[in-house]
Amino acid sequence: MNPNTPPVAAPEITVESFTRAFLRELNFGQGVDLDRASANDKYLALSRAVRHYLTTRWLETLRNQYRDQAKVVAYLSAEFLLGPQLENALLASKLDEVARESLANLGLDLDEIRAVEVEPGLGNGGLGRLAACFIDSLATLNVPSIGYGIRYEYGIFKQTFVDGKQVETPDNWLRLGSPWEIPHPENAVEVTFGGRTEAVEGADGARRWIPDWRVTALPYNYMVPGYHNGRVNTLRLWSAKATHEFDLQIFNAGDYAEAVRARTFAENISKVLYPEDSTPQGKELRLQQQYFFVAASLRDFLENVLPDGYDLTKLPDRITWQLNDTHPVIAVPELMRLLIDEKGWTWDDAWAVTQKCFAYTCHTLLPEALEVWSVDLLGRLLPRHLEIIYRINEEFLEVVREAYPGDELRVRRMSIVAEQPERAIRMAHLATVAGFKVNGVAELHSQLLAEKVLHDFAELWPEKFTNVTNGVTPRRFVRMANPGLSGLITEAIGDGWVTDLSQLSRLEPLAEDPEFRRRFREVKGANKRRLAEVLAARDGLEIAGDAMVDAMVKRLHEYKRQSLKLLHIVSMYEGVKSGRTPLESITPRTFVFGAKAAPGYVRAKETIALINAVGRTINEDASLEGRLKVVFPPNYNVTLAEVLIPAADLSEQISLAGKEASGTGNMKFALNGALTIGTDDGANVEIRQLVGDDNFFLFGMTEPEAADLQAKGYDPGAYYESDPELKAALDLLASGAFTGGDKGGAVASLFASLTERDRFMALADFRSYVDAQATVEEAYQDHEEWSRKAILNVARTGFFSSDRSIQDYLDRIWRAEPVTQNH
Ligand SMILES: *Cc1c(COP(=O)(O)O)cnc(C)c1O
Repeated sequence: MNPNTPPVAAPEITVESFTRAFLRELNFGQGVDLDRASANDKYLALSRAVRHYLTTRWLETLRNQYRDQAKVVAYLSAEFLLGPQLENALLASKLDEVARESLANLGLDLDEIRAVEVEPGLGNGGLGRLAACFIDSLATLNVPSIGYGIRYEYGIFKQTFVDGKQVETPDNWLRLGSPWEIPHPENAVEVTFGGRTEAVEGADGARRWIPDWRVTALPYNYMVPGYHNGRVNTLRLWSAKATHEFDLQIFNAGDYAEAVRARTFAENISKVLYPEDSTPQGKELRLQQQYFFVAASLRDFLENVLPDGYDLTKLPDRITWQLNDTHPVIAVPELMRLLIDEKGWTWDDAWAVTQKCFAYTCHTLLPEALEVWSVDLLGRLLPRHLEIIYRINEEFLEVVREAYPGDELRVRRMSIVAEQPERAIRMAHLATVAGFKVNGVAELHSQLLAEKVLHDFAELWPEKFTNVTNGVTPRRFVRMANPGLSGLITEAIGDGWVTDLSQLSRLEPLAEDPEFRRRFREVKGANKRRLAEVLAARDGLEIAGDAMVDAMVKRLHEYKRQSLKLLHIVSMYEGVKSGRTPLESITPRTFVFGAKAAPGYVRAKETIALINAVGRTINEDASLEGRLKVVFPPNYNVTLAEVLIPAADLSEQISLAGKEASGTGNMKFALNGALTIGTDDGANVEIRQLVGDDNFFLFGMTEPEAADLQAKGYDPGAYYESDPELKAALDLLASGAFTGGDKGGAVASLFASLTERDRFMALADFRSYVDAQATVEEAYQDHEEWSRKAILNVARTGFFSSDRSIQDYLDRIWRAEPVTQNH
């Protein structure tokens, strides 16, 4: 074989070529003719036809990469919330128009075929979606990179409502075939678990790990196309398979049933995504998942990406492993183990290299979201890694003692090993000690990380800490999701904005142009009608085509304060029913909720049930003449986000200040011309600074104010007693008015939680929120002025492109100067 055989050229980008590719896939791939093809046949054939066009560039990208041996960024993430793939692939390969025309010639409708796609829900929410935006931007910015994660057989559950209550069903996304992945069994690697360690004579730090079970990690490759730049990067997701060897051993022992059980046990590892967002449960299977994918990924990089015989002392020149939260942090002791136990390095040499290879992104401020693993569990599953973590900690604590002699309290605070309530490994501390950089995900968040969550570390190593504000990909969240607005923008300023979103600033003068404003409103109106159609077809929900769309879509979590939004709605309703508010004074408004609750998070599920109960009462109350409407389409996911966000007028970003690390939903809304009502939290702060106070509805306490109030002793009951409107709203809820007279259950539970503890201070911010909402009402009356503000939001938020985030990572982290030595 000629080693220089280039990949077969991609088919031409013409209607004829494309039609041929499509029909070939239909006939030979699916084994059906057009007349007999099901919707799914057509979807699979179309996807594979599109894949042909990308594959050549993918193979070329890989060849170039192997030839150039350039530095690679490996994005390690337990979640990639990719969203539907077909449209993105069409757009990236410039096939969108050709495919549409080709299909139309065959009497087929591209959008109908697209609707068949089931999105891979391999993530919970913001964190997983961020990873998906980042690999898109890495490819578009031409950065050699690879994403590593887990191919969960079941992604985030599918949410339905039964009597308004959340019911979870499994998301069997692979059921009808998955045209975007290519398995590579020849690159499978083994991952081992359990067992014990033993001493190795005369080695510095090396020990032998004798594991007692193993699984095969089978890679599935996904193409990650850059936008119109010919680069196609790789996302490699690992699937667990039972090993042959292991099976044979047990089969030979004659225990067939045990062999089958063991196989199932091993394959469980990649079976299902944990549905907890921001509240890890410390389950053994989750630790198995984490180690499984990072061990496979490290080995894959060292054995399959690096050339044979590569000098590993130069590893930091070839790679940065970016840790997306603490989920992949077990990669740190794994690299140490590989270098020391398998390559025979000394401890110091291994540590010198390891601490230049990893950088850590922190995603939270909530203490309960910081991952810890009990020593007992970790030692049982990964005994060698526990030993390595202990030694890293010992040497680290020496550094602390040297820097702060006699400060044993500080030593205990900073230790990687917590002693209370049980001995446990603090993964964020391990990541901070081992990473050469630690970043937060918005300015405020990074500041609070350094001041609070990781304060001692920031004091010891100030140069380690930096910020990279999150972003979203303009390809998916503007160009694809909002073709109307995209067309309008491109007509005004050309199409350079798709890869350089800062160009949106050139729209600024058009905010003053009545004709442009009219067309902008026309687009928004069309997007609302599209939303109405989708909600009708998808869920049988009916919404007005022209009311204000007020959207709160994100995971259900107390800190995000969906209950504050609910109180506002109840208060508006109460105002009308009590005669305090004349009905005519109310601007017609559709409240749209979208939110999944973790299945074990009782309060979150109660909140969903209450939102649905309030919604039903309001929607059925004829006396409101349809002015207020509450809809909660189930199963909020990327597919729904792409329809909903472009239709929104108002974006609800109302977390308690100091709790939301960044948010990315807030950015998607602003870029699609919704105004934000929000607290000074996460990236809201930066959005407001950019769009200006006149174009943002700010309310609520600042982070220092909230912290002060908490320190002084927060009494939610006092707010309840002193604000008659708040009291009336809460009392109406508690009276059972929305729950068929039922005053117990979710009603009593939410009432008590808000009036007695109110951990996220909804009552303290209620007055300010309701007043800000009144300002919103007033502002919305003036269509011209509202459109002006909305256009300015679009024009001034180009900063929130994930391309800019990735450029910041390149400047601040991935090409950062050699790290100052810490120990
Ligand atoms: C963007 C996005 C999120 C994150 O939303 P936040 O408001 O930032 O929490 C969650 N889920 C989906 C489907 C998204 O597209």
